[in-house]
Amino acid sequence: CGQCSAHCPTGAIVEKDETATVWSALRDEDKICVVQIAPSVRVTVGEAFGLPPGTNLTKKLYSALRRLGFKAVFDTNFAADVTIVEEASEFVERFAHKRGPLPLITSCCPSWTDHMEKRHYDFIDNFSTAKSPQQMLGVLAKTYYAQKAGVDPSKLFMVSIMPCTAKKYELSRTEEMHASGFADVDVVLTTRELARMLKQSGIEFLALPDAEPDSILGSYSGAGTIFGATGGVMEAAVRTAYHYATGKKLKNVELTAVRGLAGVKEGEIDINGAKVRVAVAHGLANVEQVLERVREARKAGKETPYHFIEVMACPGGCIGGGGQPYGVDNERRMKRIAGLYQDDRDRTVRYSHENPEVVQVYRDFLGKPLSGKAHELLHTRYTARPLYKR
Ligand code: SF4
Repeated sequence: CGQCSAHCPTGAIVEKDETATVWSALRDEDKICVVQIAPSVRVTVGEAFGLPPGTNLTKKLYSALRRLGFKAVFDTNFAADVTIVEEASEFVERFAHKRGPLPLITSCCPSWTDHMEKRHYDFIDNFSTAKSPQQMLGVLAKTYYAQKAGVDPSKLFMVSIMPCTAKKYELSRTEEMHASGFADVDVVLTTRELARMLKQSGIEFLALPDAEPDSILGSYSGAGTIFGATGGVMEAAVRTAYHYATGKKLKNVELTAVRGLAGVKEGEIDINGAKVRVAVAHGLANVEQVLERVREARKAGKETPYHFIEVMACPGGCIGGGGQPYGVDNERRMKRIAGLYQDDRDRTVRYSHENPEVVQVYRDFLGKPLSGKAHELLHTRYTARPLYKR
């Protein structure tokens, strides 16, 4: 998984190198190559070029990827905003309207979903069915973008730049990853593979002028960018769930209780007079105690200790993923995370549901959150694959 290769002491566990596949696709005139960049990659790729951890290179990455030959450059942060709109809607359905079990558990980390299906399958019904941002961006490119741009979706070749080796496995996780009739994503490159390609190309990456992403899958909110840090998905989801449940804007936009590198973080948010109890765990060992607390409450017939749980397999979240530049420690993790929080503060839009391109995709294509079309394209399912009998 992403976590293993991040921490392999000898560096023996590495990603399957797919840079040659991507070079070949970029040269293939029958393919229209498009690309997306995950939240955390923007604050880590600079390390491969001698810059300090946390340096935000978003706009240079847009520029570099166009020079490599990609016809459109999208941002996974856009799809992180869509994931939040779907997931926050699921949460409000379960919490406010009592339709579905609590706690709701996040599912955008494929190492975690794999682990859950093998070891914690008694929580399958608690999982958010929302696909990860990578998959959502892919399927929206091959449907919505293809229609708007007037291109043949069978020619679109989607490359994802991800922090993570487990994201390579996610592409074929279930048949829903081909919901449009085409693979949501064709190839995943890790941050390290991207750095390798940039060096092979001879482009003077750091000297490039800034550029903008391609609309209509490019704009992002501050909530979308903090997905790359432990606690970020929870913080983003709470910003939008609060609005959906109350019709108001959450004043304290920064949920500091779920920030930082403590293995388990807890917080409480008041929504319409009801207390929402949240927990965030990163590193799979830390999730055990959170799930055990929920199981004990279930057995005793007591109320759930948490309503919403975020889990990321890698310590620190995706900024510490197995495809990131080597040599991560907590100091480096905190610097990478600081780069994402700064990006959040710098955005004029900090709530996923206010991202204008997200508003547009629902207006023009998906209808509303959790609509039939949203379910068909943006959601998935899980299957118990027990390693031992519970
Ligand atoms: Fe991949 Fe992020 Fe999960 Fe790590 S936390 S395995 S980088 S998705």
